[in-house]
Amino acid sequence: MLDRKRDEILYSSFQSTKEGKEELYHSEKNKIKDINHESNYNSLTGLPVLRLFYYSAGEIVKEHPEERYAVIVMDITQFKAVNEFLGRKEGDRLLKFIAECLNEYVKERPFTVAGHLRADNFCLFTAYRNKQELADIAVAIQRRIKTFPFAYRVIISFGICASEEVQPAIPYLKDCATLALSEVKGKYYADYNFFTEEMRTNMLREKLVESDMMEALEKGEIVPYVQPKVNMVTGRIVGGEALVRWLSAEKGMVSPGEFIPIIEKTGLVIKVDKRVWSQVFQYQKRVLDEGRSPVPISINVSRMHIYDASLSETFSEMCDRYGVPAGYVPLELTESAFTGEKNINSDLVKLRNKGFVISMDDFGSGYSSLNMLKGQEFDEVKIDKEFLSDISGRRSKVVIRHLLAMLQELGVNIIVEGIETEEQRDFFVENGCRRAQGFWYYKPMPLEEFDELLRTQSKNSGKTT
Ligand code: C2E
Ligand code: MG
Ligand code: MG
Repeated sequence: MLDRKRDEILYSSFQSTKEGKEELYHSEKNKIKDINHESNYNSLTGLPVLRLFYYSAGEIVKEHPEERYAVIVMDITQFKAVNEFLGRKEGDRLLKFIAECLNEYVKERPFTVAGHLRADNFCLFTAYRNKQELADIAVAIQRRIKTFPFAYRVIISFGICASEEVQPAIPYLKDCATLALSEVKGKYYADYNFFTEEMRTNMLREKLVESDMMEALEKGEIVPYVQPKVNMVTGRIVGGEALVRWLSAEKGMVSPGEFIPIIEKTGLVIKVDKRVWSQVFQYQKRVLDEGRSPVPISINVSRMHIYDASLSETFSEMCDRYGVPAGYVPLELTESAFTGEKNINSDLVKLRNKGFVISMDDFGSGYSSLNMLKGQEFDEVKIDKEFLSDISGRRSKVVIRHLLAMLQELGVNIIVEGIETEEQRDFFVENGCRRAQGFWYYKPMPLEEFDELLRTQSKNSGKTT
């Protein structure tokens, strides 16, 4: 069953290269015939738009099927900044200059078409003999752009797909070139990147994961496990963190590391997160309905959500729907969400006003800047397990000790993640950190097991937790 599904996905990806191209070609040809000049050419640069680009390239392939062809896509790094700092007019002047460069190739090289896809995206379709020629085109365009009199250092990134097959499907070449571009865009060590077999394998693997996850959601195989948070001084469980698990009928339990990074690229993580969140809210409601007092169970909020303007409403609705106060479901946002291009402060203010506790996850794992700590809009910092890896070293101890002192002075709550040894525990307790999460205490467990632990704890202490 699984193999059949895999075959279907592989087949549909390749279809666009084979059977699909004929169909696309004929439908585009008919459309082009009916369309007037303006909609076929970009009004600023006069270059063909995508549809005409595909059509003209298709005509060339049809007339000269013996040639080998390539598509080069290009993108100006930070074109938005050009427009913002220098004004739209200057931005337009740059785009026109790039179009002129491309037009020269169209005149000079046989079997060549240029296109202006959108804003700062251009492409070139051309016949080639060897890959070096294509790299030379990218380098030469880059060089020319550098000589363009402009008050901003413009860098262009290129993605190149050189087809080994005869009669390739142009949209497929363009998609592959775009994928190659996405891997080099904004990097300063390289201007261009060729599409490789490895990229194709990765792309297919990612597609498989994505479709497997959609099926897993339908089958109800996406569930939260919970890792208890403990007070290291008393040993009591004071909360939990919901960590998604995929309980696959075929593969067994799959950890988030294997699918979250992939579904974060496509946005499917939003659905997966919401599934986890609703199960946590449901559980907290059940505890409340049973007359027990819940401990807070935090949920992870992928950085993808920070672009969602209705995030705070989504959480408020969940509180209302399940009748669970916001304080019982703290929100963990990875530290990089606090430093990304979008300023999330206003969202965080809204959420905190509604009673949500905001926790800065993975502190110290990435590019933390102490500057981030100056911001006010979080309640808790979760010290990442990376910090603990070499805790025996003197320098490491100094860093952590001072970090803890600083956080305490700032009045931020601290929780340390990844306590695996008694030595680590003792060190953090000695330095005033009380709360922890780590394998030394508990590993993540099914929700029901966590519930059992809480019941036992409350029985032993005579409380209703
Ligand atoms: P995280 O949010 O920082 O979660 C803590 C991770 O550290 C968990 O891994 C947990 O099992 C692991 N951990 C805790 N204590 C120890 C320890 O003592 N030693 C070691 N070696 N590891 C420990 P897990 O469950 O594999 O999750 C990995 C990451 O996946 C999470 O890191 C989080 O970034 C992401 N993730 C998990 N669940 C979700 C979810 O529902 N939504 C989203 N968007 N991301 C999630
Ligand atoms: Mg977390
Ligand atoms: Mg963490």
